[in-house]
Amino acid sequence: MKIKTADFVTSAPDLRACPAWNLPEFALIGRSNVGKSSLVNLLTGRRALAVASDIPGKTKLMNFFRINGNWALVDLPGYGYAKVATQDKHEFNRAVGDYLEKRRNLAEVFVLIDSRLEPQRIDLDFLRWLAGCDVDFSLIFTKTDKHSATQTRTRIDAFLAVIADFLPEPPPVFTSSAVAKTGEKEILAHIAAVLAAPSGE
Ligand code: GDP
Repeated sequence: MKIKTADFVTSAPDLRACPAWNLPEFALIGRSNVGKSSLVNLLTGRRALAVASDIPGKTKLMNFFRINGNWALVDLPGYGYAKVATQDKHEFNRAVGDYLEKRRNLAEVFVLIDSRLEPQRIDLDFLRWLAGCDVDFSLIFTKTDKHSATQTRTRIDAFLAVIADFLPEPPPVFTSSAVAKTGEKEILAHIAAVLAAPSGE
């Protein structure tokens, strides 16, 4: 799939403020610093569409981008953002939880995992929760330029072995590197395939 247009549409603090459209949405989520903003820019081929920002106020919002006029990429707040005050943290977790549980036009969630790290508790807890939601999801292992392909594969296999405890079917797995500019073709091809499938499949 070629990205012809990628436009920032809005930032929503909660489900009610999300765009009133029926575009299929593909959401990205992961620990803060996992490389989510960099992946939005890699996927869309825009250098600063998602500003890699450290401002807590900004990173709490759900950011909507309309792509090619017929689908949307949704940049969800990173979880485990240490700088957010406890009260805010609760609020943003609830907003994201609402979105993931209730958004009707949510086509798929991409959960970003840092390929350099051992399986992290926070990612496993989130995946365990997400598995209970009625939504398809895939994993994207980011920052693969940091290791050899073999080391990355070993990490992915270790991660899949851990989640097999609570996920009977392994989810689709992708890899990406914003530095080496790899992975976006496979992820976009997957999105194109989901868009082309009759809805409900
Ligand atoms: P976010 O907080 O998840 O949105 O993460 P960012 O996209 O802002 O990236 C966090 C940090 O990781 C920044 O310093 C990026 O330059 C770096 N980073 C992001 N993607 C990659 C990648 O693919 N490879 C490497 N080596 N660094 C990356």
